[in-house]
Amino acid sequence: MRNDPFGQGNYQQGGTRRRGGGFNLRWIILLGFAGYAAFYWFSNRVVDPYSGEKVLIDNSISVEEEKAMGLQAYQEILQQERPVDPNTPFARDVREIARRLVSKIPQVEAAIAQERGTQPTGNWKTFEWEVNVIQSDQANAFCLPGGKMAVYTGLQPVAQNADAMAVVMGHEIAHALLRHGAQRMSQQKLTQIGQMAGAMSGMDPQQQQMVMAAMGYGYLLPYARSHETQADEVGLMLAAAACFDPQEAVPLWERMSQASGGEAPPEFSSTHPNPGTRIQNLTALMPKAMEYRQRFCQAGSAGAGQ
Ligand SMILES: [Zn+2]
Repeated sequence: MRNDPFGQGNYQQGGTRRRGGGFNLRWIILLGFAGYAAFYWFSNRVVDPYSGEKVLIDNSISVEEEKAMGLQAYQEILQQERPVDPNTPFARDVREIARRLVSKIPQVEAAIAQERGTQPTGNWKTFEWEVNVIQSDQANAFCLPGGKMAVYTGLQPVAQNADAMAVVMGHEIAHALLRHGAQRMSQQKLTQIGQMAGAMSGMDPQQQQMVMAAMGYGYLLPYARSHETQADEVGLMLAAAACFDPQEAVPLWERMSQASGGEAPPEFSSTHPNPGTRIQNLTALMPKAMEYRQRFCQAGSAGAGQ
């Protein structure tokens, strides 16, 4: 290990020995930053009402601020990628699916919080929901913090039906409800603290990376995967509560993994659990989804004839 980030640790094997003074200073800087990172971590932990786990959300990123950022991003996206005519049948269907999903958020959030013994956040109360369809070959969709959503026309042939579309849109809505955007920003800040520590202590990028891994920054990708698993669960419950058929989720993700065999859009590829695991998780959740469907899908709230 020529580039041992810990300088004169126990296992240096020749050639890279550094002077004692620099070594001490480096450690002081690193410890200072580690202290700051730890402080940042512990002072910004909140209980996530959906998972019941403690998650990192920077106190300075309020729901309102997040919403403003989401709105700004949405306007930029809609300027670059023109939405289709909102009166096309597909755009109407997508809006109706969104409306049904959104109408079940209060009940689903309350039910999940009760299962986990947490308090519902009610973050969605400030959301201003909107959904546009964007012309694109990508099988993709998103929901930004604050409730601004988009579905790409390329998702239509993969989803094939309203139930599967509801599963995807429920997944996207869940990301916004669970404040995954704010969590990612908070993680990035933590990563920046680490990078700053590395740079200030005079490490080269390779050494920095090794230290980051040693300090526990290697959790970023698994963390993103856990966001996906949570969004799958909450999204599935929303779809079921809104009277869609949750069983469509399994064939949907099978089609999705086939469709994304080539060039997959980021939301459904890199950070996502491997398709087998995802389908296994969803299959395990099916009894609960059917229970939610029975409990919350009352007569009259189904899609037909509205
Ligand atoms: Zn996702």
